[in-house]
Amino acid sequence: TFLFVLSKHNEDIRCLTTLSHFGFECLPTQLVNKSIQKGFSFNILCVGETGIGKSTLINTLFNTNMKENKTSHFYSKVGLKVKTYELQERNIPLKLTVVKTVGYGDQINKESSYQPVVEYLDAQFEAYLQEELKIKRSLVDYHDSRIHVCLYFIAPTGHSLKSLDLLTMKNIDRRVNIIPLIAKADSLSKMDLQKFKSNIMSELVSNGIQIYQFPIDEEDDDNSQCLLPFAVVGSMEEVKVGKRMVKGRHYPWGVLQVENENHCDFVKLRDLLLCTNMEDLKDQTHTQHYECYRSSRLQKLGFNDTGPNNQPVSFQEMYEAKRQEFHGQCLREEEELKQTFMLRVKEKELTFKDAEKELQDKFEHLKRIQQEEILKLEEERRKLEEQIIDFYKTKTASETSQAQVCANVKKD
Ligand code: GDP
Repeated sequence: TFLFVLSKHNEDIRCLTTLSHFGFECLPTQLVNKSIQKGFSFNILCVGETGIGKSTLINTLFNTNMKENKTSHFYSKVGLKVKTYELQERNIPLKLTVVKTVGYGDQINKESSYQPVVEYLDAQFEAYLQEELKIKRSLVDYHDSRIHVCLYFIAPTGHSLKSLDLLTMKNIDRRVNIIPLIAKADSLSKMDLQKFKSNIMSELVSNGIQIYQFPIDEEDDDNSQCLLPFAVVGSMEEVKVGKRMVKGRHYPWGVLQVENENHCDFVKLRDLLLCTNMEDLKDQTHTQHYECYRSSRLQKLGFNDTGPNNQPVSFQEMYEAKRQEFHGQCLREEEELKQTFMLRVKEKELTFKDAEKELQDKFEHLKRIQQEEILKLEEERRKLEEQIIDFYKTKTASETSQAQVCANVKKD
């Protein structure tokens, strides 16, 4: 039912004004309701040295005290701490995942400090890709852990970026939306800050580092891109300014108000992250960074959108070609295995034959020796028998001659 109000603009014409929306004008409302029902999620990665103010800034941004133990400076390598929080503002639920580096910048050799960060970013893309490739996908209730924004905390040195900053940003800029921040900006004067900001930006440009580009809004002449890197200050301390209590940091010479745009860029950053650009950050993550990962990963697996002569190839054709290729490769490998097996059998046969021949020769040799031994023994036996015969002959002869002698003696 629609409500109409009769308005009398003209005495003769009756004008009807609608009090409620109808028709496809309601489409955005449907989207809003659906999104609220589904809830929102946002994943932030904070990269920066230990004690640079990562936890304090996150607490200040979300106005919560996410209790944490103090991190140590004595880790032997860089790690990542992941925590998910269920927040609610009015009736809007937000599943916030905060990933923070641990031990970043604390090692003497910082060459591979960026590696765990890169691995983490890729692992989240890989998990999403694996879900996408499943036959039964459940992307609707899948907890998407891909990082939507990386807040890169730069130490307020007032000079330039450290080589670690450049190395890390260079290695992650194709994987995540980087928003560079000058941490603890309250330690720099306004003039130093301006100079530091322009130094950083020119260093990023000269090193070819891509940072997050804000969508150009023609109506908004207050361009946030010019403020980069945002100079931020974090604090959960409530300080009295006039009659109001504000978040700030109390110094002997006055109060730095975190939410005062003349004091730092905190409000700009908060607006950008939470009010104006959260959806764009998520879109960029999906359409730019994830797409880049996905295409290089699929190409590595051998998939391509076009064939050898730049003709489009369907997924089925590609699958068939891959299957054929795989089948061919299996056959080739089988043939190779057979050949090596035959070769080895032949080699073994030859060695067996050699060994057999050797044994046979040995046997013949031994047989010959044995026969010679037998012959020798035969000869000796024959000689012995002859000697025995001779002996008996001599014995008989001597007995006969002895008998003769005795007979002769008796006769005499
Ligand atoms: P994390 O190790 O990077 O998480 O650093 P923390 O957030 O634990 O902060 C370390 C110390 O720096 C704490 O004593 C904070 O009070 C202080 N701190 C945090 N943010 C700021 C800031 O913006 N300015 C100043 N001066 N100190 C800060």
